[in-house]
Amino acid sequence: MMSVRVRFAPSPSGYLHVGGARTALFNYLFAKRHKGQFILRVEDTDRERSSQESIAAILEGLDWLGIHADEGPFFQSERDEIYAQYLQRLIETGAVYKCFLSKEELDARREALKQAGKTPKYDGREEQLKNQDQDKPFVWRFKVPEGETVIDDQVKGKTTYQNKELEDFVVARTDGTCTYNFVNVVDDLDMNITHVIRGDDHLNNTAKQILLYKALGEALPVFAHVPLILGQDKKRLSKRHGATAVQMYRDMGYLPHAMVNFLVRLGWSYEDKEIFSAQDLEDLFSLDNIGKSAGIFNEEKLIWLNQHYIKEADQSVLQEQVDYFIGIPDERKNTAKGFATLNALRDRAKTTKELAELARFYFHDDLVFFEGVKEKFITPESVKIMAVFREKLEKIETCDHDHIKSIFDETLKELDIKFKFLGQPLRIALTGSPYSPGIMEIVEILGKDRSLQRLKAVGA
Ligand code: GLU
Repeated sequence: MMSVRVRFAPSPSGYLHVGGARTALFNYLFAKRHKGQFILRVEDTDRERSSQESIAAILEGLDWLGIHADEGPFFQSERDEIYAQYLQRLIETGAVYKCFLSKEELDARREALKQAGKTPKYDGREEQLKNQDQDKPFVWRFKVPEGETVIDDQVKGKTTYQNKELEDFVVARTDGTCTYNFVNVVDDLDMNITHVIRGDDHLNNTAKQILLYKALGEALPVFAHVPLILGQDKKRLSKRHGATAVQMYRDMGYLPHAMVNFLVRLGWSYEDKEIFSAQDLEDLFSLDNIGKSAGIFNEEKLIWLNQHYIKEADQSVLQEQVDYFIGIPDERKNTAKGFATLNALRDRAKTTKELAELARFYFHDDLVFFEGVKEKFITPESVKIMAVFREKLEKIETCDHDHIKSIFDETLKELDIKFKFLGQPLRIALTGSPYSPGIMEIVEILGKDRSLQRLKAVGA
């Protein structure tokens, strides 16, 4: 096979959404698998709908997922000269003609056809061809040939279009700028794209694009149209289903690779495997295993994957995530106790945002109490109990697990109380949270001085 060249070609009219991210990922993995090139092309020809913020958001989203381009980003808005050259080729071969009909005239014609009970479509070719020398604004229309066009798609199989259904579409506007279907083809040719992998909402465009390739006398790339992503209710995934922007998942505390593993399974499978390392994906991804039916977005599965990857993550990755959410003061970064905190809590967190909230007690001095717990557990009685423990803590010299355990047990014995009467309030006073690791571990992690400070802060 010729060296593989694929591209992701987002239109920057919003953030990077889940569907776009999956398309980008499929292209990226396909390039990796075949040791090819992955090109990033920003389709910003629609100047009204495109924005710099959106371009930045898309690049940031890709970067977060670890989808890095080998070439680009290229911007269509900077490539007008190239489009003009290709348009010239169509003009020279007579594949396009000038159409002088104004929008009002076209609307009136459509309306007349509708009134006559006919399908309202463009029917001006013959009369326009008779008079190509008018001194009026015009667009270039493509002369759709007779016959049919077959899309032979790697995922969908064959789809046949009757060319007469595709009316002579516009390839260049009155201001000379070229339209979407045309510039898309020109770029794919100019960038030597071998495989076009994109959402199946583009299938109708593909029929027109195939005609353009042929008119230019060029070979077709391989097409692979990927089914849409649906919500659990089997409706097209949209904001109604919750977060659709990739960055929102970052901000909810999902690890990028959990998201990648989740995205790749939306429409692609490999035996009954669910967990794929980055290397697995590069080794196993292929177009053959893309299903014909839509991928269903199941958030519970994403949470499950996230928990898996939080358990497996390198501790420095968890530290980075926690730093992102709550900021870690420099002196507490890369410390044995900081890592011990993260390791003790990682199994309890569904997201790294949750992990950050749980780990806050170690990294910050101002304690944030989880809702309702202070009122419930820090009572005059529990404060008295904790005061007994505090006195003993003041006296110990080595604040390690065994010493803490022995003063803890002594306190229970002296007061003749069960574990929970000291354990629970202590946990709340020291961490603000009812979900923390073992109490001895907490005191050891915090150390003697910080533990004493916190006990005094609640009056113990
Ligand atoms: N710019 C198109 C989009 O964002 C993609 C076109 C393509 O992949 O060919 O939907």
